[in-house]
Amino acid sequence: MKKKKAVLFFVVLGIIFSTILVLSWFNPSMITGSFKAGDRLLVIAITIALLIYYFSIEETPQLMPSILATDKETAREKDKSNVTFRDVAGLEEIKEELQETIDFINNSYKYKRMGAKIPKGILFYGPPGTGKTLLAKAVAGETNATFLYASGSEFVEKYVGVGAKRVRTLFEKAKKEAPSIIFIDEIDAIGSKRNSESNNEKDQTLNQLLVELDGFNTNETVIAIAATNRLDLLDEALLRPGRFDRHIYVGNPNVRAREKILEVHTNNKPLDKTVDIESIAKKTTGLSGAQLANIANEAAIIAVRNNKTIITIDEFDAAIERVLAGLEVKNPSVLAKEKNIIAFHEAGHALVSKVLNVDLIQKISIIPRGQALGYVLKFPDEERYLLTEKELYFKITGLLAGRAAEEYKFKEITTGAKDDLNKATEIAREMVCSYGMSSLGTLALDELYIRYNYDSIRLEIKKITDRAYNDALTIIEENNEILEQIANLLIKKEILDSDELDIIYKKYKKRLHYAT
Ligand code: ATP
Repeated sequence: MKKKKAVLFFVVLGIIFSTILVLSWFNPSMITGSFKAGDRLLVIAITIALLIYYFSIEETPQLMPSILATDKETAREKDKSNVTFRDVAGLEEIKEELQETIDFINNSYKYKRMGAKIPKGILFYGPPGTGKTLLAKAVAGETNATFLYASGSEFVEKYVGVGAKRVRTLFEKAKKEAPSIIFIDEIDAIGSKRNSESNNEKDQTLNQLLVELDGFNTNETVIAIAATNRLDLLDEALLRPGRFDRHIYVGNPNVRAREKILEVHTNNKPLDKTVDIESIAKKTTGLSGAQLANIANEAAIIAVRNNKTIITIDEFDAAIERVLAGLEVKNPSVLAKEKNIIAFHEAGHALVSKVLNVDLIQKISIIPRGQALGYVLKFPDEERYLLTEKELYFKITGLLAGRAAEEYKFKEITTGAKDDLNKATEIAREMVCSYGMSSLGTLALDELYIRYNYDSIRLEIKKITDRAYNDALTIIEENNEILEQIANLLIKKEILDSDELDIIYKKYKKRLHYAT
């Protein structure tokens, strides 16, 4: 805190100066010049005043990421949100659910008169970028309440007591600025389950948060909203009634919500007639609101880069690829031999995904993007909320097909399958640990069990991935002509779209039996 340090500097200077003056009272030869008693008293009085001021300055927690605030303190203290529900597309049922909270803030006297207790804490949970922060800001915007933003990681400190003090100060501020909304993003950073290994500082911070949540009463219109990607990690005490007891899941948008989100993010942009928001929404299954907002913005940037005055569907297609696969590498220095391997690797993915009917392949490319040397652009062909064991297994098989194609064609494997292996292992891990889809039994395994039985779990994961890999190899062997055709055309053209692939696929052999 700069202000506090500056005052401290003057206080120290004042104390030194006053000491000299007091000493010179008794021994006037210490300083030259004529200091009257009045001057001496004035210096001492100023020092005491500065001292009192120093102790009265509050320690203010870091409530806003510094990039959001030029003058941090003023921006933090007087933050009013200008986001409203109109800026939040889709999520209709959540907005409806939040109406009651909004009504409480706007008309708190109605509830207080009835002796009704309002929800103190709301917890949004769900995958990243789905609009949790946006919703919290919109609640503040709809009510004109002060919006106090804090990220859980800002309370994580090395020194015992510092995090707890920050929590205290945050709630004090919220009460002072009431009606107010405290939003704690990434609450898992301070609110994760306590155990014998957790440290004293973290526990103190969490305890302080629990105390504060219990502490504010119905006279103060303060609502605490928190967000996390991992509800399962949070301490039970935090989720108890009276604390964060309203849990609202904010998931990835469905096709209608995607359309609305794209509309919100394109309504200030000049769009060409070729741009059909509905069809963009259809081919972006599984993407979050943040990714869709990013696509709309990227499309506008690409249009500017291409010296266009209007955004066409080409810019949107380029933006989707940019957001999903990363930046295209210009003049890549990939060796011809490597290009061959990449082409067969990607052809393996495309072929096996087609045979097993996993996702809808829109495009395959061997032009490097981001860290990927080649990629298959695919989306699930429809909204899916439930996946069968077989479908999960097929996803793993499709992911491992790149490596299987390398082994089949070159009798050698490369580092190119790193990302595929991570994703395949993660799905297999979920099958074993969360969905009860292994010989360990129909049960979900908690973190502690996983830690102490990792060997048997690893064996189960390996059984699934090994079987899937062998299946991918068999499919490739059975359809080797198609693999060759896709790979060779890919080497020639570098990019193949779904129509070009469909022409080749006509003769593929669909497998009738799978190892699941
Ligand atoms: P994280 O869990 O990573 O903190 P989040 O769920 O809090 O993410 P937000 O920060 O709220 O996500 O969303 C990021 C951006 O995505 C928003 O600023 C907005 O531009 C866009 N966005 C997400 N969901 C929506 C939506 N439903 N309507 C409009 N825009 C959205």
